[in-house]
Amino acid sequence: MSRAFVPGRSVSEEPVTDRAAPSLALTHVTVIDGTGGPVVPDATVVIREGRIRAVGPGSAVSVPAGTPEFEAQGKFVIPGLWDMHGHVTYTGPGALTQMVAHGVTGVRDLGGRLEQIDAWRAEIERGDRVGPHIVRAGPFVDGPKEGIPDRLTVRTEAEARRAVRSLRAAGVDFIKVHNALPPAAFFALMEEARAAGIPVAVHLPQGVSSVEASDAGVASLEHVETFAESALWRKGATCRSVPEAVEENLGPIGREQLRRIAKNGTWYVPSLVAYERGFVLWSNDPEALGPRLSIHQKQLDVVRAMREAGVRLLAGSDFSDWGAVPGIDLHNELALFVEAGLSPVEALQTATLNPAQFFGWTDRYGTVQPGRVADLVVLDMNPLDNISHTRKIHAVVLAGRLLRVPARLT
Ligand SMILES: [Zn+2]
Repeated sequence: MSRAFVPGRSVSEEPVTDRAAPSLALTHVTVIDGTGGPVVPDATVVIREGRIRAVGPGSAVSVPAGTPEFEAQGKFVIPGLWDMHGHVTYTGPGALTQMVAHGVTGVRDLGGRLEQIDAWRAEIERGDRVGPHIVRAGPFVDGPKEGIPDRLTVRTEAEARRAVRSLRAAGVDFIKVHNALPPAAFFALMEEARAAGIPVAVHLPQGVSSVEASDAGVASLEHVETFAESALWRKGATCRSVPEAVEENLGPIGREQLRRIAKNGTWYVPSLVAYERGFVLWSNDPEALGPRLSIHQKQLDVVRAMREAGVRLLAGSDFSDWGAVPGIDLHNELALFVEAGLSPVEALQTATLNPAQFFGWTDRYGTVQPGRVADLVVLDMNPLDNISHTRKIHAVVLAGRLLRVPARLT
């Protein structure tokens, strides 16, 4: 199944901003800074050279002479959003603009063609292309698969160790493991990656349970459905089908596993929207629809249980050339998180503060605070009243550059 990516929104840059050293002041705006602290009405945000320099009530923060002002009365500003699971290689570069137009100012790319991603990343960094900050894995590390591109095929422990060394030499930001990697090779890869100091994101290899992967030190587990799948192959497994596995996830065994994953500090990227898009909303198999819809709804309950167990959550849409759509589906993931029991501010943090914590970059990203890169989303309506208001985008500020979203298509 393959669906063409259809570009929707576009953005245009305000001529007032200096691309080399953007300065800007947002005035009379309500600030939701992403820390979970109180909302600041009628505030001023001063940006100089692409960074936030001052934030506070308009009465207390003055705008330096000569700074272009963006009067944002009645608007709300939140930190730029991160999509923590995407595949830019398979959507093409239109996705980069599309993301920014939807307020996504950072993306973690979970597998693709390294040279291509790096070429786009360099264009973005030079200011020649509008796109988000990119953190990327490069090629997937996987077991043998027919006709699937951009894989380092690994069968043995020695090959797994070599793959880590070659990816490290290639300068990837982290390693992405996929599901056909043999378990012994996976554990060898984890050992080698730990020694090399490279984080590993995991689409669970068949035969490895979520808890085993967490105990082995993975940075993030991807896709809520792999938590269920792994109940089929964990040691002493008693369930034989995915619905039975989901029931186990929601019972005492599942809760115990989630407490352990939380204790290990392993992050989870449920990518609920990818399952909903790919297997429910776009299902062309009427017989499969009912069971899948029920699995999707129970997976929302699993995410609720993750939150209750203290598992740290990240928002990722898993956009690619099928299923989820770049940009807008990050907002749909946030809405699904609220359906799963997160408060609107907790949902927002899965795409702002939590990604910054995950990367160890809280001094650069994730909040509207002095010193942070000026990645901001200006909204027409308050997202704390209703998370769907994150879609009401008035403008985006990308590293201090003000970008207008000319037509609201959502
Ligand atoms: Zn993916």
